[in-house]
Amino acid sequence: MQKSIMSIDEATGRYLPFLYPEEMSYWNGLKENKVVLQRCNACGKAWFPIGPACMHCFSFDFKWDAMSGKGVLHNYVVYHKAWMPWMESRVPYAVIQVELDEGPRLTTNILDCPLAEVKIGMRMKAAYEQVNEKITLLQFRPDKG
Ligand SMILES: [Zn+2]
Repeated sequence: MQKSIMSIDEATGRYLPFLYPEEMSYWNGLKENKVVLQRCNACGKAWFPIGPACMHCFSFDFKWDAMSGKGVLHNYVVYHKAWMPWMESRVPYAVIQVELDEGPRLTTNILDCPLAEVKIGMRMKAAYEQVNEKITLLQFRPDKG
């Protein structure tokens, strides 16, 4: 049987991501409160999710580059069911997709915003939730300027 690669925070029961070695530039960036993504040296575009080749031109030549951390709310969905016990106190909650000003779209959570105020097109800025010494999660909150 294949073992799960998920880890669980024992204090909260929250599922945490597995940190793959090839993704450590992203995770280390978040620890420094920066959104660091891959940017193609051939066409100049940034991309996400993390992968070996540019999704725009398929070049393997890239660098890790700090993004602005700003963008717009591209899409969202509201969950009324807690899919794990850790989420029970949070329902209903929105899962959002933010399109960074640099182009990549990130699926994430929205902080400090009542559900009734969640709107497609609203300006967003990155927020950083330090979960433990290894993991800082990327979240977003409304950018009120
Ligand atoms: Zn490219």
